[in-house]
Amino acid sequence: MLKLNPITPLGLNTKDVESFTSLVMRSAGRHIVSTSRLLRYCFETGQPSTECNPKWGAISNAELVRPNRTNMALLEAYSACSDCDQDDLERMTFIGLGRAVHRCSKTFAKNIRWCPACFSEMDKSQSIPYLKLSWSLLGHTHCEDHHVALIEKCPHCGCKQNSTKPNNQLSKCNRCNNSLYDDQSLLADTDPPYSGDLLSLIYATATLPTQDFPIEGAKTSLNDIYEAHWHSKIERVLWEHIPRDECLTYVDHKPITLLIARRLAVLLDVPLVDFILGLGLYTSRSITHSWPNDTEILFKAQRRTLSSLELIRIETSLKRQLKASHAGDEAPSLAAIAKTLGCSTGGLEYHFPNLCDQLIALRTEQQAAKRIEQFKLAHHQAFKIIAENPHMGRKKLIRKLRQQHRLPVHILRKAIQIERVTPN
Ligand SMILES: [Zn+2]
Ligand SMILES: [Zn+2]
Repeated sequence: MLKLNPITPLGLNTKDVESFTSLVMRSAGRHIVSTSRLLRYCFETGQPSTECNPKWGAISNAELVRPNRTNMALLEAYSACSDCDQDDLERMTFIGLGRAVHRCSKTFAKNIRWCPACFSEMDKSQSIPYLKLSWSLLGHTHCEDHHVALIEKCPHCGCKQNSTKPNNQLSKCNRCNNSLYDDQSLLADTDPPYSGDLLSLIYATATLPTQDFPIEGAKTSLNDIYEAHWHSKIERVLWEHIPRDECLTYVDHKPITLLIARRLAVLLDVPLVDFILGLGLYTSRSITHSWPNDTEILFKAQRRTLSSLELIRIETSLKRQLKASHAGDEAPSLAAIAKTLGCSTGGLEYHFPNLCDQLIALRTEQQAAKRIEQFKLAHHQAFKIIAENPHMGRKKLIRKLRQQHRLPVHILRKAIQIERVTPN
């Protein structure tokens, strides 16, 4: 298969991650073909497994980040025709988000949008201009770094940048070829809105595998929070945060879009990302101590308390470790495990006594078996070396054995001792 010229996605794993739209535009510019031509070539060559029938004339560059079947297929095809990893490409789109919330026309921008100051900065530093994924979210209106408004029309000729024509430098207008910024557009707003919740979402999108966004994750969060209050007989506390009818509508049937998820997260005082990832009940909130879970998280002794989320994480790791050790891996000490998990040995023993006991027992058994194995080996080698050098002194023997086998000295010494007293 003929591969595309290699183009590296920019800003991977950061909030500044490049959008798939941008990568396709840069790639088309490099090959001097239109973006629709490039995508069509990939689709026909890469033969994606996702079934769909793209309408080539109607594909809009700005919409390539949306979670839908066609984009999934195009992304798969692009990955097949380039050296780009499909997982990386997915994290340059909202395919994960599309699993967790209901799709809605008001979420994503229809036109290419950009921060004039970011483009100006990229040009000045002579780095490759690209479109950031965050610029495709309609709710994100201002650049968080430069505090200037995102725009969608060339400040010189007023043209939108949705053309599929090849464009070699994304910071330049595809009609008048001027830079996509001017003095006016570079002026920072004095009090710009800051959509931190969306930026955290972008960060999660850029770093987590798509599967970490659970299907209907937002709904799971709301249902869990509702159930927890219901079972603790403190629903009234919940109604102080969110109107009862509104809550029940979404618990029951109404789909939760990104816009609704943002509203619910604010009302419920839960970080948006956790809400979308289905972890709404398990995340920390501000001081609302009558809620289930919070008393434990926030008001326990001064010592660092493990949150329920951390406990789940620790339990999973312990179980995984135990399974691996049963399968033959060397069981680490509790202290070593505690260190990797960022908690204390006491904490481990307190929260998971059974798992810890099993791990310790397994480790004792493994260590004993290991010592016997080492001893057998040492014994065998000592026998050989003594037979070859019957008059060699004990110290020299140990040194020689140690050079060859790196076994602990006390084991070697013991083996020699036994070998020397055994009559031949
Ligand atoms: Zn900017
Ligand atoms: Zn222009």
